[in-house]
Amino acid sequence: MILFTPGPLTTDRRTREAMLDDWGSRDPAFIALTAQLRQSLLALAGGEASHICVPIQGSGTYVVEAAVGTLVGPKDKLLVLENGVYGARMGTIAARLGRAVEFLRWPQDRPVDAAQVQARLKADPAISHVGLVHCETTTGILNPLEEVARVTAEAGRALIVDAMSSFGALALDLRKTKVTAVLASVNKCLEGTPGIGFALVERTALEKAGPAASLSLDLKAQWQGFESNGQWRFTPPVQVVAAAVKALALLEAEGGPTARLARYRENFATLLAGMKRLGFSLYLDEAVQAPIIATFRMPAGFPLSFAAFYAALAQKGYLIYPGKLTGESTLRIGCIGAVRPEDFEGLLTAIAAILKEEQ
Ligand SMILES: *Cc1c(COP(=O)(O)O)cnc(C)c1O
Repeated sequence: MILFTPGPLTTDRRTREAMLDDWGSRDPAFIALTAQLRQSLLALAGGEASHICVPIQGSGTYVVEAAVGTLVGPKDKLLVLENGVYGARMGTIAARLGRAVEFLRWPQDRPVDAAQVQARLKADPAISHVGLVHCETTTGILNPLEEVARVTAEAGRALIVDAMSSFGALALDLRKTKVTAVLASVNKCLEGTPGIGFALVERTALEKAGPAASLSLDLKAQWQGFESNGQWRFTPPVQVVAAAVKALALLEAEGGPTARLARYRENFATLLAGMKRLGFSLYLDEAVQAPIIATFRMPAGFPLSFAAFYAALAQKGYLIYPGKLTGESTLRIGCIGAVRPEDFEGLLTAIAAILKEEQ
């Protein structure tokens, strides 16, 4: 199966093969592997001097919940910038944890506007933290991280960025862009296997944080665990750690995030041209589209339901993703993972064949 999804996604065989060994979680070899993982993730964003890498067991949402519960205190207020379901989810997490939360919202096809954020921060001095989703995977829209980081820093507030679907491909340099916490997982643009989320948190923010709202989803305690003996506090997904270290070595061999982004751009360009030929239109304006995941409108009079279309493609070995928009018939196709333009040509050929069979 080739997965055209935003994660879990198609991985390199060498990454999956790295999962064949057993590891003792308290053994020096695994402690060294964990240290290597934390160091490499930090280096990818240039955060060695300022930030701490805290991996946590679970999917991406677990690390979002851990970050909100650790960094946003009972007296703080989080402003969530929402233009899709992942922004909404960060707000839901804060509310569930009993943290004060407000939203600034945009339509799903419009990027966050930093000028409006600036005005809101000026109007409400009680807002202590801002939450932003870098690439909103709901649609594939790219939000203006640099501008939001600038207005947030100027206003003296903390910024929590859900960079889940962008980290490892879209550029992020923590020496230049002021972000309190970057959240991501190893199974998206890093092309690892699912099971670990991680946060890159400013050391000063982590030092003054806590106590967290949850025992296990506590980034500060998790960090202190690594500091004290190099070990994870609770059973780590050892094979996933090994696969992530392998995936990071493959990222470096590819040429780092710049080269990976170039491949994803090529994937996206191949996909877009072919889908247009087949009668699908891109939901977003190309100017705000990130080359991570693309949402397409179904052509008028499309002969199949999404479920039937999905099943027909799956039969040919290709997995796509349903749309996540209310009131519009869409589908999503991921451009990330160990996939290349040839794989997209294969997918497009399969779609054309299915449409022909239906005529
Ligand atoms: C994938 C993703 C998450 C986390 O989702 P999980 O299903 O918990 O891994 C969070 N935010 C964004 C923007 C994502 O793309």
